[in-house]
Amino acid sequence: MKKKIVTLAHYYTIPEVQNIADRVGDSLDLAIYAKETDADVIVFAGVKFMAETAKIINPKAKVILPDMGSTCSLVTMTDINKLKAWRMEYKDHVHVAYINSSAEHKALADWVVTSRNVVDIITHLHSEGKRVIYSPDRNMGAYLNFEYGFNMPLWSAVCEVHDKFNEEALLDITSKIKDKSHYLISHPESPLPVLKQSTYIGSTFGLLNWVKNYDKEPNAVILVATEDGILYNMKQARPELDIRQAPIYKGCQCNSCPYMKLNTVDAVKKAQNEESGVVIDYLSDEIMADAIIPINRMLGFKHTA
Ligand code: SF4
Repeated sequence: MKKKIVTLAHYYTIPEVQNIADRVGDSLDLAIYAKETDADVIVFAGVKFMAETAKIINPKAKVILPDMGSTCSLVTMTDINKLKAWRMEYKDHVHVAYINSSAEHKALADWVVTSRNVVDIITHLHSEGKRVIYSPDRNMGAYLNFEYGFNMPLWSAVCEVHDKFNEEALLDITSKIKDKSHYLISHPESPLPVLKQSTYIGSTFGLLNWVKNYDKEPNAVILVATEDGILYNMKQARPELDIRQAPIYKGCQCNSCPYMKLNTVDAVKKAQNEESGVVIDYLSDEIMADAIIPINRMLGFKHTA
């Protein structure tokens, strides 16, 4: 019988890859899709932690990452032995880990969250009187502590893409937009000074929805502080709007994730033909068994956008 192969692509991949995928989405959307699909093979055009998550929640499927270099700075900046020691320092806390983490990292967590459900889940834990530690994204944790008063001890890694957004460059650009309104919308992986300037802060999915539902001045400039791949989807949804990448330094309006962009059309097609790519078959049974628990807690939690 012919194998069923599905291709999942994250919003941060290039448009040409999104166009050959069966499903395009953010981390949460793609994780849910990976759990529910009956495909024999999942080609994951994203980064390694996403492909690992797909394998953990759908262990029967063969999961292929098109390029072995597709990692994430939130993963590479986290030393697992140091994380274990940090976890032990806060034994009486609940460990909430952002989905942008390795399988070993998730296996040390009590809950996994995405940027779409993190506020609801931590609010829920606080309502039960739990104390929470948050890893690995320092910027997102600082924002959550500032905005919601969560007061969580934080692990210290950053997304190298979002961490580059710069308040000074932003103020320089906005000071030059004199004849029209402007709005800044940002992903919470961005630095706190940039987030404080934002009209809206939300997940990749939330940012896209904000643009889709935009009903303010038609000629306003919309600056977007997140990875540049999503601008393709935003411009497709609302081609009449002036949507621009937020600056990372004066004069530069570009910010791409080098790991996501390794998912070239050629690499994805070869993975679809099972000719190349990394098969996610190296996770131990113990890691898979421990990591599925916090992931399932998240997937079972009623989330809001
Ligand atoms: S955009 Fe940042 S968080 Fe996302 S995969 Fe790239 S480095 Fe990791």
